[in-house]
Amino acid sequence: RKIRVAVIFGGRSGEHPISCVSAGNVFEALDPGEFEVVPIGITREGRWVLADGDPTRLAIAGRVLPEVTDATGEAVALAADPTVPALRAGDGLSGVDVVFPILHGAYGEDGTVQGLLELAGIPYVGAGVLSSAVSLDKEFTKRLLAAEGVPVVPYAVLRPGMELSEGDKERLGLPVFVKPARGGSSLGITKVTDWAGLDAALAAAREVDPKVLVETAVPGVREVECGVLEGEDGGPPEASVPAEIRVVAAEHDWYDFEAKYLDDASEFDLPPNLPAEVVERVRELSLKAFTALDGAGLARVDFFVTADLEIYFNEINTMPGFTSRSMFPMMWAASGLDYPKLVTRMVRTALARGTGLR
Ligand code: ATP
Ligand code: MG
Ligand code: MG
Ligand code: MG
Repeated sequence: RKIRVAVIFGGRSGEHPISCVSAGNVFEALDPGEFEVVPIGITREGRWVLADGDPTRLAIAGRVLPEVTDATGEAVALAADPTVPALRAGDGLSGVDVVFPILHGAYGEDGTVQGLLELAGIPYVGAGVLSSAVSLDKEFTKRLLAAEGVPVVPYAVLRPGMELSEGDKERLGLPVFVKPARGGSSLGITKVTDWAGLDAALAAAREVDPKVLVETAVPGVREVECGVLEGEDGGPPEASVPAEIRVVAAEHDWYDFEAKYLDDASEFDLPPNLPAEVVERVRELSLKAFTALDGAGLARVDFFVTADLEIYFNEINTMPGFTSRSMFPMMWAASGLDYPKLVTRMVRTALARGTGLR
């Protein structure tokens, strides 16, 4: 019989529409001769629906982003509506062999869905509970990787209600990037060039997460990313050819949401136009980060490179953007794994890994 794959997409974070686009591409990539796909959408409110798996409806049309709504499918489970049975682990997932939780950000990339699937005993693509939770949290990721000797830029953590001290302002200097601790797609991030703008930036970040990071902005930054895949048959993890992203449009000063998805504002060099030893070091650091964070399945690791070719780890994404034009699949395509092969490999790795402690 065919392998039944539930693709869970949408979700409660601000990255909901990006997840929908990623899912549409995954549907197209799964060979119908080998896989039976169960499309499960999660609405922004957290309602689970058996969704319409028509990939053509899950694309960005101009500047209109796709969305899972109750109307796109029949409800299979949800949390709060008293007229529909409450969500139980595994609802909508009976008979499913493996889950591809292609969810970004909170309630998806953060260990919560992974915990549900562990309880249900259903294998899933990507990192486990702890690795997902730590990797989405930019504070704990930096703490763990700094302890491994991985360079990170100076930062301060502002827990709910906390403000940036004068000492930290002096230590970090201007400009700074203010970002939600657990976010993605640059949502809630502001570059602050004058302390007068700090409060508004903190408020914007706290719309996403009450815990916020303030980081020194790397001057003249070059951005390099690298894909990591879990090894096959118990082998060591593998790093892709890295890529450099260049934001080229004058109206974008950095890699913000619009530059990522809407404006054709960015270009990339695959491989980066950097000395071979810098590129190799990025690959080594990516593998080191993946291993130190108990990575599984896949991750995309983001770095900053300074004018002096110093490398700083920026952040890791355990479920990176997976649209056909996202960096992760493009870096793997350049490394010899095209999109369908990549998706198939990840599903197979998840099945082979199973659930539980290992
Ligand atoms: P992703 O979509 O990759 O998950 P994210 O929301 O987790 O993004 P970051 O990758 O941390 O956020 O930051 C988004 C962008 O903001 C970076 O790609 C870069 O352009 C800019 N940026 C963030 N922090 C800094 C910094 N300290 N110095 C310079 N630029 C920065
Ligand atoms: Mg991120
Ligand atoms: Mg992300
Ligand atoms: Mg990033």
